[in-house]
Amino acid sequence: MKILVTGGAGFIGSHLCERLIAEGHEVIALDDLSTGKKAFLAPLAEHPNFTFVHGSGLDRSLLNEVMEGCEAVFHLAAVLGVKNTVENPLKVIEGNIDVTRNVLELAFPRKIKVIFSSTSEVYGKNELLPFHENSSRVLGPTTKNRWCYATAKALDEHMCFAYADKGLPVTVLRYFNTYGPRATSTQYGGVVPKFIAAALKDKPITVYGDGSQTRCFTFVDDNVTGTMLSLDRKVDHHVLNIGNDHSISINQLAVKIKEMTGSQSTIIHVPYEKAYGIGYEDTPNRMPDLTKTKKLLNYVPTIGIDEGLKRTIEWYRAGITWPREE
Ligand code: UDP
Repeated sequence: MKILVTGGAGFIGSHLCERLIAEGHEVIALDDLSTGKKAFLAPLAEHPNFTFVHGSGLDRSLLNEVMEGCEAVFHLAAVLGVKNTVENPLKVIEGNIDVTRNVLELAFPRKIKVIFSSTSEVYGKNELLPFHENSSRVLGPTTKNRWCYATAKALDEHMCFAYADKGLPVTVLRYFNTYGPRATSTQYGGVVPKFIAAALKDKPITVYGDGSQTRCFTFVDDNVTGTMLSLDRKVDHHVLNIGNDHSISINQLAVKIKEMTGSQSTIIHVPYEKAYGIGYEDTPNRMPDLTKTKKLLNYVPTIGIDEGLKRTIEWYRAGITWPREE
C-alpha cells in the first residue's frame, strides 16, 4: 500500500515509517523538520520504497502532490508540548487545526483513509479514571493558554468525525505519554527524556509539583503497533485509546531513572508556577481504558516501563543520532 506519514521525521513518525517499510509498504514521509530530524530516517534513506519530502502540511499544493496515489495517511504532524502550548498558542492552533483541515479536505475526494494521531490531553483534568473513549472532557478556561492544545486536538477530532459522517474512512487515535528512543528533551520536553538527559549528566532531576501526579507511559514500539493496526477498515469512524495502562507517579519515575542510570543527580521539586508560569494546572492522573482497542484490534501493550526505560537510556547513552542536548 502507498502511505503518507505526516510528521514522518518525528519521534513517533520515524518509528512508524520504519515499521511500515518493514511490512512492505511504500512510504512517503512529509516533515517540516521543525522538531523532526532527517537523521531519524537515516536507516531508510536508501530504501527504494521510501521517499522523504521536506515541507509542511500548511502548504496545500505540496500536500496534494504527496497524497497522490496514496491509500492511507497517518497524520502525525503536530505542534505539541506543554511549553509550546503555554508560550505559542497561535503556533499550536495553526499547526494543529489548519494542517488537519488540509489533510481531511484533500483526502476526502479520493477517499484516502486518514488515521489521525490525537492525544489523551483531550480528556483534560477529568478525575474519573480510567479514561474511556466516551469519557467527558474536562478543561480549564480559554483564558489559560495551557488548554489550547487539548482544544485544538479536540476540534481536529470533530473535523475527523464530520468527514467520517460524509463517508471518509477516518480513525482517531488518542496517544498516552509515549516515550522511547528519539524522544529528546529539546524537542517538546516530555518528562522521560528530560529526566534521562539530566540523570546522565548528574544534573538535578526536576519534579514539578509534589510529584504525586501519575501517568501511564507507553513505549514507542507499542504505540506504533496500535497505530499500524488501525489501518484495519473495521475501525473506520472510531476513536481509540492507544497506550499502556500501567500507572506510575512522577516521583517514582524520577527515582527509577536515577537508579537505572546510576546517576548522582539530586531529585528536586519545583513549583508548577516556576516551570510553566502562574496559574498552570497539571492533569493530576491519566490512565487509558484499553477495553475497546483490545476488543477491536487485539491490541495489547507488551513493553513495560523497566524494559522501555532500559532501551531508551541505552539509546541516549549511545548518543549517535540525536541532536546534542543543551
Ligand atoms: N514533569 C516534571 N518535570 C519535568 C517535565 C514534566 O515533573 O521536567 C511532569 C509534568 O508536570 C507532568 C508529567 O511530568 O505531571 C508529564 O509531563 P509531560 O510534559 O511529559 O506530559 P503531559 O502528561 O503533561 O502531557
